[in-house]
Amino acid sequence: MEKWPIGVFTSIDAGLGVKLEVARELKVPTMHLHAPAQSTRTPENAKEFLAKLKEAGITLTVVFGGFEGESYADIPTVSRTVGLVPRETRAARTQEMKEISDFAKLLGCRVIALHLGFVPHDAKDPLYGEVLKVTQEVCDHAKRNGQNLHLETGQETPEALLQFLHDVNRDNLFINFDPANLILYGTGKPIDALKKVGRYVRSCHCKDAKWATWPGKEWGQEVPLGQGDVGMEQFLRTLQSLGYDGPLTIEREIPQEPARQKAEIGHAIQLLTELKKKIGI
Ligand code: MG
Repeated sequence: MEKWPIGVFTSIDAGLGVKLEVARELKVPTMHLHAPAQSTRTPENAKEFLAKLKEAGITLTVVFGGFEGESYADIPTVSRTVGLVPRETRAARTQEMKEISDFAKLLGCRVIALHLGFVPHDAKDPLYGEVLKVTQEVCDHAKRNGQNLHLETGQETPEALLQFLHDVNRDNLFINFDPANLILYGTGKPIDALKKVGRYVRSCHCKDAKWATWPGKEWGQEVPLGQGDVGMEQFLRTLQSLGYDGPLTIEREIPQEPARQKAEIGHAIQLLTELKKKIGI
């Protein structure tokens, strides 16, 4: 496959991505997929979806786990509802993440990913150890399926993320780097963060955002690629300096406006294509 193939974040019946038909119309060679709802993760559906992918000529590079009850309404709500951090849902979601790994295997996908949630920055916090343990469990399950696990960036500072990866201590644990999330959550400057965690970055989201007035206390604003504070050219140049050669997967989280979502992703494809040329990829 070419270096830096462009991709889009796609959804079947869960998550905020575009429909497969849209990915197809946009003629992208790769995609990330939000795992479909539990009831539709059947072997029959996997087979059917694979056939559609083949027909569309799209390679699935990452399957993202997501769960019922998660809400990204505001930062405190994320903290309360997202990922494997909340105690009430942790056991069920850990089990579900293993099932998502099995489903991804049926789709021939070697990478699963997720937002873990807000892992405490203090390693002595009991919650830290609890999340560490379930992350190891998911890694080990993925390993048996021949897969790596990528953690989505944003909810931790780069330093805290590095510490966590070190402590989980699994050779199939890597990072899906989303530069916009660092701005949205106010956890760090995206390019600086990318340099710090770069050796673990095996996939990425091309997403843009503007800083909030009070970063970390309120959301930044997600905006079309190239219109935010990430600095896409610098982002790509940094990826290049790190030797990154995976897909550039566009994420634009406005499924409530599908026509606009498609148009803006179209522009993002154009922007990335131009930047790749400029950089000499
Ligand atoms: Mg993302």
